[in-house]
Amino acid sequence: MSDFVSSIMAWVKAKNPAEPEFHQAVEEVVESLELVIERHPEYRTARILERIIEPERVIMFRVPWVDDQGEIQVNRGFRVEMNSAIGPYKGGLRFHPSVTLGTLKFLAYEQVFKNSLTTLPMGGGKGGSDFDPKGKSDNEVMRFCQAFMNELFRHLGPNTDVPAGDIGVGGREIGFLFGQYKKLMNEFTGAFTGKGINWGGSLIRPEATGYGAVYFAAEMLAGRGESLEGKTCLVSGSGNVAQFTVEKVNILGGKCVTLSDSSGHIYDPEGIDEKKLAWVMELKNVRRGRIQEYTEQWGNATYTAVDPRLDSNQLWTHKADCAFPSATQNEINGKDAQNLLKGGVYVVSEGANMPTVPEGVKRFLDAGILYGPGKAANAGGVAVSGLEMSQNSLRMSWTREEVDSRLQLIIQSIHQVCKDAAERFGSPGNYVNGANIAGFLKVADAMMDQGVV
Ligand code: NDP
Repeated sequence: MSDFVSSIMAWVKAKNPAEPEFHQAVEEVVESLELVIERHPEYRTARILERIIEPERVIMFRVPWVDDQGEIQVNRGFRVEMNSAIGPYKGGLRFHPSVTLGTLKFLAYEQVFKNSLTTLPMGGGKGGSDFDPKGKSDNEVMRFCQAFMNELFRHLGPNTDVPAGDIGVGGREIGFLFGQYKKLMNEFTGAFTGKGINWGGSLIRPEATGYGAVYFAAEMLAGRGESLEGKTCLVSGSGNVAQFTVEKVNILGGKCVTLSDSSGHIYDPEGIDEKKLAWVMELKNVRRGRIQEYTEQWGNATYTAVDPRLDSNQLWTHKADCAFPSATQNEINGKDAQNLLKGGVYVVSEGANMPTVPEGVKRFLDAGILYGPGKAANAGGVAVSGLEMSQNSLRMSWTREEVDSRLQLIIQSIHQVCKDAAERFGSPGNYVNGANIAGFLKVADAMMDQGVV
């Protein structure tokens, strides 16, 4: 680690103790920026790095609610408003028992660079709660969402802060959150994205993150004169991002052979075709069941439960060409990365945020495979959220084809911008450096223009 990176990291760790994911996210960006800072000392003088690391505002609040047994439950709510240099704060809400301030700071920080890459005017933020929607009734989820919004509403607005979904926050939760926001504000505005299609949502928003990750893989492959046609793909997760990743891979002629949840993964060597995917969507989005049930329905598949004694995830040991990690952060460790390479994987496009640990990233880069980091590869979701905001402002709805073609253009542009930035700053083919540098430059220049605020 250079003196520059180690001095920044020492400062970040001292100031933000016990936030390892936030440290990890910051370190990756700072390492990418060494040459940028050397060529542009004005950013150092203006202390842009120190300012970009510090959230503009953090809101933390109590969320009391009553469960179906009449018992009072207390959760904690957060919103990290990280950076508004290029637009209103924008980023999802995560409901998961593992959520801490540190998790949301890492996600909000990543979001700043990702949103900058989309070319749309969006700042970065992220929020959520340690509430676990799993096993809760619809009424309990509604009461929780209403209690959460009773505090958060005063911090939101179409020109201030516009949340969306993330892990544990899908269409059902956005509906309850938006309903309460509207009631408290007494106005119908586009202060959320991922809304239902009848009340201000955009076509293709549910599909956008998964589709975008597949488009990004297709762009990387096109650079080598290849396509996804006939490629075997590993997908982790079975939620929103994973489902639409499988859908788009199928459309482009590839074959997905795995899906997972936090209990284990299924392997279907014949591929998860349209019919099987429709069944998975019903299982996960309506019945809210476990992926293990797949093997009871589709006989040729096998199920492997997560084994906490192992130091690697068996999902990543299957032979394939491409991998789309679409579950959660740090789901690919160094050993998993090694297994992926051993199994023939030479394209990794991250639907999840920061799913690969630094050692794994290093292995991918050293091996020279096509590696699209989440910041770039999963930006399709927030890009279509940006398009939803535009449609709300214009009071118009674009067609499916129009939104999808704009999404494809945005992903193509992100791919190009990352490639160009990596070349310009001495690391051709390194999309990690490319994404960090290109995302940073736009926000840094806006911060320089706007003075010390
Ligand atoms: P969902 O809640 O729809 O699905 C999450 C999936 O990941 C589930 O299958 C879940 O399994 C699994 N999962 C969650 N936590 C863990 C864990 N700790 N260990 C193993 N598996 C886990 O979320 P999304 O599909 O929306 O999000 C997936 C990833 O994509 C996240 O990293 C998110 O930040 C990222 N992302 C999402 C965007 C979006 O538009 N939704 C946009 C950009 C990035 P189980 O049901 O057992 O918990």
